Amino acid sequence: MSHGFDYDLVIIGAGVGGHGAALHAVSCGLKTAIIEAADMGGTCVNRGCIPSKALLAASGRVRELRNAHHLKSLGIQVGNVEFDRQAIANHAGNLVAKIQGDLTNSLKRLGVDIIRGWGKVAGAQKVTITTDNGEKTITAKDIILSPGSVPFVPPGIEVDGKTVFTSDQGVKLESLPNWVAIIGSGYIGLEFSDIYSALGCEITLIEALDQLMPGFDRDIAKLAERVLITPRDIETKVGIYAKKIIPGSPVVIELANFQTKEDVEVLEVDACLVATGRIPATQNLGLDSVGVELDRRNFIPVNDNMAVLSGGEVVPHLWAIGDATGKMPLAHAASAQGIVAVDNIIGRERQVDYRSIPAAAFTHPEVSYVGLTETAAKELGLTEGFEIATTKSYFKGNSKALAENESDGIAKVIYRKDTGEVLGVHIFGLHASDLIHEAAAAIANRQAVHHLANLVHAHPTLSEVLDEAYKRAIAS
Ligand SMILES: Cc1cc2nc3c(=O)[nH]c(=O)nc-3n(C[C@H](O)[C@H](O)[C@H](O)COP(=O)(O)OP(=O)(O)OC[C@H]3O[C@@H](n4cnc5c(N)ncnc54)[C@H](O)[C@@H]3O)c2cc1C
Repeated sequence: MSHGFDYDLVIIGAGVGGHGAALHAVSCGLKTAIIEAADMGGTCVNRGCIPSKALLAASGRVRELRNAHHLKSLGIQVGNVEFDRQAIANHAGNLVAKIQGDLTNSLKRLGVDIIRGWGKVAGAQKVTITTDNGEKTITAKDIILSPGSVPFVPPGIEVDGKTVFTSDQGVKLESLPNWVAIIGSGYIGLEFSDIYSALGCEITLIEALDQLMPGFDRDIAKLAERVLITPRDIETKVGIYAKKIIPGSPVVIELANFQTKEDVEVLEVDACLVATGRIPATQNLGLDSVGVELDRRNFIPVNDNMAVLSGGEVVPHLWAIGDATGKMPLAHAASAQGIVAVDNIIGRERQVDYRSIPAAAFTHPEVSYVGLTETAAKELGLTEGFEIATTKSYFKGNSKALAENESDGIAKVIYRKDTGEVLGVHIFGLHASDLIHEAAAAIANRQAVHHLANLVHAHPTLSEVLDEAYKRAIAS
């Protein structure tokens, strides 16, 4: 291959998106190089999914072992449960090192050239790489941009990385403040509130919008609040935003009403985690050299084939994937986009089916969803001329959840009334992040509740929660 180019494919950014694209490219016979300016593995491996899940695993165990009431109900008694903050932090750090090594080795083993430095498009089918030792230009038949995202810090908030920090520093668990404010109740804020509350910190959770967990389906968010927030040492402030945050000891937080912008109160806390979303890392990528303009939120404009667009037209041989596209900022979505981009490069035309990509928050218990929320499904129904129906089933009616004595949970299925096609599934409860995949497969295949209700699930398993929801749908 290569046809007069240095490479068939050059990928800028070795996060999970770039990694997924590279592995697939090699399996399709493409001569591939990947350029990384900082840590191999990007956000997910170094500052995101991996360390946060390690902290959640350890802190979740502490929560479980300290829940004397729950253990007693199972006939178990344990003595004083202690933990070592640094050892928990080390568990996360060691896992990051292992997965970063595995990821890098998988690329090397398959013959992907890893080029360290800052990659930049330098005109059609050309990339320059800048390192401390200078600059070099390589050519590639196709280029995939996968530069990812970084934490968004709103104006007025000063981050010192010690007392006021983002998830980048939070995953290192360098301290356990007695009182920590968390700004933002999206999934990152929620996962950190799970970690900190399990490890004994007092929390104030501040959400600018008028409800907590604004990204989740309302029924799920309501129950999640009753289980994940209300009974824990977490105070909430909703409709309130942090106008100014000054690091130090104490951290000073000026709060204001999000609607009226009037000052509300000043908090003095030990530390503050800023979890107010992420912004694309799309500056200085050389896009002007090929006439591409970022959209108004600085994402790289793409179509569902992952081709980069300029003025709505496809830019030949230029592709973009991952958080930088603003489509679905999740690790597996980035990787799926990478695989689709490569398929299109080799002429196997394919689009990303975002509706069937699941998402999860790894709290205790977990939240997961796939497809549309009830509100979005209703809107789609209005434009496409169909009505929707919903059905719910509860973990408290599930034998496995009852055996575990962990029966707080709900599954909600949203489907078309006329055809029964499943449009969205939302789960809150034990192992929700694993349970969601059955629903994701059903949505990917555009299956209807009538079909799904006839599938047989092993008994007793948590998967029967979905079975029950599908059966209720056809009975109603
Ligand atoms: C705390 C936290 C927890 C998360 N948990 C989950 C989770 O449980 N599940 C999940 O699915 N997602 C999770 N995410 C989101 C997930 O991490 C991202 O969606 C994913 O990392 C995006 O992958 P990417 O390849 O688009 O970008 P990134 O992982 O951000 O990688 C981009 C890479 O490109 C490099 N780069 C950028 N520009 C250049 C350039 N010009 N030249 C060379 N290199 C460049 C960067 O250094 C970086 O390494 C979490 C995120 C955070 C912050």
